[in-house]
Amino acid sequence: MITVFGSANMDLVAYVPRAPHLGETVSGTEFRTVPGGKGANQAIAAARAGAEVSFLGAVGSDAFGPALRAALDDAGVNTEGLRTVDGPSGIAHIVVEEGGGNSIIVVPGANGTVTGPSERDLELIAGSDALLLQLELPMDAVVAAAVASPAPVILTPAPVAELPDELLAAMTLLVCNEHEAAAITGLGAPDRALEALLERVPELVVTLGSKGALYGSRDGSRLWAPAVPAKAVDTTAAGDTFVGALAVARAEGHGAEYFLRFASTAAALSVQRPGASTSMPYRRDIDRALEDQPLANP
Ligand code: ATP
Repeated sequence: MITVFGSANMDLVAYVPRAPHLGETVSGTEFRTVPGGKGANQAIAAARAGAEVSFLGAVGSDAFGPALRAALDDAGVNTEGLRTVDGPSGIAHIVVEEGGGNSIIVVPGANGTVTGPSERDLELIAGSDALLLQLELPMDAVVAAAVASPAPVILTPAPVAELPDELLAAMTLLVCNEHEAAAITGLGAPDRALEALLERVPELVVTLGSKGALYGSRDGSRLWAPAVPAKAVDTTAAGDTFVGALAVARAEGHGAEYFLRFASTAAALSVQRPGASTSMPYRRDIDRALEDQPLANP
């Protein structure tokens, strides 16, 4: 079982010819509300990739709360540990310009009220094969969950922030993209950032978008997982799909070469479809796509 302790946001997406300046009003062409948040996205990715998944976090008492809960329930995620708190749910206000450029405002809402895990949450985490964390909850809550977790901890450090030593010490595996790796280490070259981060965490993946991913562990293993060729139409949540799928294959006991290939395949399938959680592949699709691929590091 996988437990995600993280954020749920309603994404409010407006499509415009160009984003307004301060004080200006522009007419948009389309508007969508889409359940999101890195925590919820990773939970849905892991559930679709074949795991039993529980989600711990909070939604608000507004209309978005039940909608966010329903999106997780529909994906088969256990939401017994998802609290409803008085006040607004977390939202991401996204303006997408023609040509695809975007600007985003995130208001944490209920996510910002989450403190460390409760006794019941900890019981659930103790029975899990992995605890997935991101940084869209208050840092104190994330640190408390990581430190208290008897299960292996997998962290996505997004949005990127300074990582307290306590958090790094509780880490099993860090999965970051190349921008996060550079921001945390101050090193632009992903392979150098990987070596620097391995002095602080036991296992690490640095994802490089359509180029693939680098993996390293303190026992000296280094792997390169090329991206699976895909005709990308929308790369939103490729990273969350990658992490959710990786956690599932790892929890099933597979080694790094397999879990990287499984995650890369799931992410490549997701970029071929529009949307975030809507684009995440199911286990049968991942298994089918894996059948024809040679091992990356035979
Ligand atoms: P996002 O923030 O969009 O969720 P990210 O920046 O966290 O993504 P990326 O490094 O962009 O993460 O992508 C994660 C993984 O997804 C990559 O390592 C790769 O395996 C896969 N991937 C991303 N883009 C593509 C693509 N265009 N084609 C095939 N695979 C891709």
